[in-house]
Amino acid sequence: MKKVFRGGVHPHDFKELSKDCAITDAPVPEELVVPLQQHIGAPAKACVAVGDEVKRGQVIAEPGGFVSAAIHSPVSGKVKKLDTTLHPMGMTCQAVVITNDGEDQWAEGCNIEPDESKEFTSEEIVAAVKWAGIVGMGGATFPTHVKLSPPPEKKIDTVILNGVECEPYLTADYRLMLESPRTICLGLKLLKKVFNAENAYIGIEANKPDAYEVIKMTLAEMGGFAEAVLLPVMYPQGAEKQLIYACTQREVPTGGLPMDAGACVQNVGTAHAIYEAVYCKRPLTERITTVTGRGVSKPANYRVRIGTPAKSILELSGFDEDKTQKLIYGGPMMGAAHFDIELPVNKGMSGIVAMTDAKAFIHGPCIRCGRCVDVCPAGLIPSEYSIYGEKGMYLETAGIDIMDCIECGACTYICPARRPIVQWIKVSKAELAKERARAAAAAADKK
Ligand code: SF4
Ligand code: SF4
Repeated sequence: MKKVFRGGVHPHDFKELSKDCAITDAPVPEELVVPLQQHIGAPAKACVAVGDEVKRGQVIAEPGGFVSAAIHSPVSGKVKKLDTTLHPMGMTCQAVVITNDGEDQWAEGCNIEPDESKEFTSEEIVAAVKWAGIVGMGGATFPTHVKLSPPPEKKIDTVILNGVECEPYLTADYRLMLESPRTICLGLKLLKKVFNAENAYIGIEANKPDAYEVIKMTLAEMGGFAEAVLLPVMYPQGAEKQLIYACTQREVPTGGLPMDAGACVQNVGTAHAIYEAVYCKRPLTERITTVTGRGVSKPANYRVRIGTPAKSILELSGFDEDKTQKLIYGGPMMGAAHFDIELPVNKGMSGIVAMTDAKAFIHGPCIRCGRCVDVCPAGLIPSEYSIYGEKGMYLETAGIDIMDCIECGACTYICPARRPIVQWIKVSKAELAKERARAAAAAADKK
């Protein structure tokens, strides 16, 4: 199979730990902490008060802006308090704490029997996605209804589902493709309808041949409205730009978005959630999360309610806190290490990895070996960012395409001097964004 993008790395995937674990329902805890920042954009605004009775699927927080998403109660019960909670990315955010009444009663109009013969208009599909609070479930958490509403001058003719799951350890998407191929494919059909798109693909890495076969067969049974594409195993094959190129040979221009190449990319879990929202009127109140790593004795793929403390599914998986050196929310390449095992599961939490061999390293100077340049899929020179980052000269990176970095971490993975390149890049990007905001505010004041 031909390599389909420049650069990339081959980390051992450790998927063998959890790939054969069928999805199981995690027990629903007595108390759930539902964060109001589970997406990129403005936090949602709570619309319930302490003491309110809530049903599963009831809106408990409204979108806080255009780029934002609604949040729904994952259980029926009572609002215990409005509080703050920690987010895997290190910040705190507001949260609604709900006491579960154990009844699991859905809000009125939710959870209906699906009628798959029913047709929906593009507007109805986008409205259902917005109502359901769906965000990119591969971890990006960008509100999906915004992605489905491009400016009129941007014609999307291609929809691509991301079934690559190239992050090591994670198997949530893999299991979903094996166990629910039909709902994923029907979700893709709805997405194709939204854009009246001519082309549709599902990209799957060659290390998941059974998932590829199941999806291919399901698409054939549905009349072949989309194509399953088997892709070579190479990290970060699942990055949007790389996936678009692999499926269509179109390049997203520098500084551009997938829509600039006529494409919209969604995760397979997002497609499943779209099916549930449109056909079953089920808003996003649960997700599939892999719990894995050598720090747990029983790796698993759980269907888990949003707001469930990570601790409860970690314990269910035989978590050994003493043995675990690093706990990562998400995958090891792009996820976030965090010390707290009480963090609530959110819409973007595709996995929790308990690593036992995560030694801390002291990085050395750049030896100019060029390996980071060789593996960078964006064609950048990561060593330059690392040198500026190390000296705290973050703003000096403005002229050297840093915003094209997709933060895949391939450079950091390959660096023999163990330089935390992607971490410096993230700080530089944040500092540049602050500087641009300051400049824009200053310009606005002058007017
Ligand atoms: S891989 Fe590391 S040591 Fe080699 S050039 Fe890049 S930053 Fe320098
Ligand atoms: S510079 Fe950015 S895009 Fe390139 S390898 Fe590093 S993290 Fe990935």
